[in-house]
Amino acid sequence: MRVVTRFAPSPTGMLHIGGARTALFNYLFAKRFNGQFLLRIEDTDRERSTPEATSAILDAMSWLGLTPDQPAVMQSAQADRHAAVAHEMVARGTAFRCYVSAEELQARRELGEEKRLAARQEGLGEAERTALLAQAGALLAPFRSPWRDAGEPPAKDAPYTVRLRAPDGGDKVVEDGVQGTVRVNAAEIDDLVLLRTDNTPTYMLAVVVDDHDMGVTHVIRGDDHLRNTFRQIPIYEAMGWDVPHFSHLPMIHGNDGAKLSKRHGALSTTVYRELGYLPEGMKAYLLRLGWSHGDQEIFTEDEAIQLFDLGGINKAPARLDLEKLGTVNAHFIRDADDDRLFGLLHPFLKADGDVDADTAARIRRALPFLKDRGSTLVELAAALRFLRVRRPLELAKTAKKCLSPEGLARLGGLLPELRNLSTWTTGSISETITTYCTATGLSMGQIGPPLRAALTGGLPAPDLAPVMDWLGRDETLGRMEDQIQADAA
Ligand code: GLU
Repeated sequence: MRVVTRFAPSPTGMLHIGGARTALFNYLFAKRFNGQFLLRIEDTDRERSTPEATSAILDAMSWLGLTPDQPAVMQSAQADRHAAVAHEMVARGTAFRCYVSAEELQARRELGEEKRLAARQEGLGEAERTALLAQAGALLAPFRSPWRDAGEPPAKDAPYTVRLRAPDGGDKVVEDGVQGTVRVNAAEIDDLVLLRTDNTPTYMLAVVVDDHDMGVTHVIRGDDHLRNTFRQIPIYEAMGWDVPHFSHLPMIHGNDGAKLSKRHGALSTTVYRELGYLPEGMKAYLLRLGWSHGDQEIFTEDEAIQLFDLGGINKAPARLDLEKLGTVNAHFIRDADDDRLFGLLHPFLKADGDVDADTAARIRRALPFLKDRGSTLVELAAALRFLRVRRPLELAKTAKKCLSPEGLARLGGLLPELRNLSTWTTGSISETITTYCTATGLSMGQIGPPLRAALTGGLPAPDLAPVMDWLGRDETLGRMEDQIQADAA
């Protein structure tokens, strides 16, 4: 099967996660069939589109690694082509020039509303009411222009719009990849405007011409566009073009089932980067948000490319679950290559304070053992805080408790033993602590807490011997001495 998909965002704001999911599904579907994934920036709305929004969308897509197979198409740059197609349709007789003005259309709608209100009045006879409702219905129905069958223009240079001859009679049916068979009565489709009076194309025309010109075979987009599909298909038919296969994705809701809002985490995709999610974690989560394959929860990108199908997309709206996003992200943090993870973590460490060469080296060494300490890079950076050079350490309340005179005496006893160590390794440190415990009759439960308090200030830390190894001899002994001296002072 030949597959060309596209993601077609309007650059009027950030790329929210619903958009990112649409992009991901298009990307995966194209990759699954060795096809092409294209990007089109739908910037025809001159007032609302901004270059900043375009950059933000490109940035978010590049963060997620959703790289299009060709340079992005800017929709506004194709305007002449869109207009040419509309004129060709007029020549073919599938579209026509319509001289009904915007004011006339407005007046028609207003009259329709008046009739509808009039039909509600009390004291009307049944026949009268039915007649009024019928008139209102005709005036408010999708517009079918009196100019469908040409005729002389009202004046030689009278302004006109170009409208599509909407299909007459019967049902229009779409076999949607997600929604199944969707039917709309042709009477619900209007003679839609293709070109405005200033010869500029409408969005509805531009989308179809661009999708055709880009060779798009599968349109996968939000279900807010489902109704547009019934207005777009007649444009393909009017030009005798192949109609792509359509799939309309249900919305994403908040975890309480309500429409997604900021409160639920409806943030710009790049904000998740700042919150410390990895792109692969974000992608794996977005994949499961509305798509499933058995009960598998976590997919690598390669697996996703092997398995992604339209049949696995759920018809019901998905619910954004930040806790689950955290779980998925934690998995990918644990899986990440150590050097890459350190690189990704670096800005988060810096945000938390200076990272000098010593600290960086320590953290780099410890990282492979501590990757499970956070579900985001922010959490991980916080969990690694005890490895920073920041003497004298600030002590948490719990740490102060552990550094009682008794606790400090134990540290004081251990200190010379550690000082005497000729080699500073996890093994030799561990052995020294064990020997000290045996010699003094202390248990690990008696020496561990004061030692941990002196070394981390009360932050959670894993096994102490590796911590002391990562910190190095000087820093370890220094932190212990600090506490003992503070007590003596
Ligand atoms: N530009 C439209 C949007 O951002 C998408 C149009 C389409 O996918 O056909 O909602």
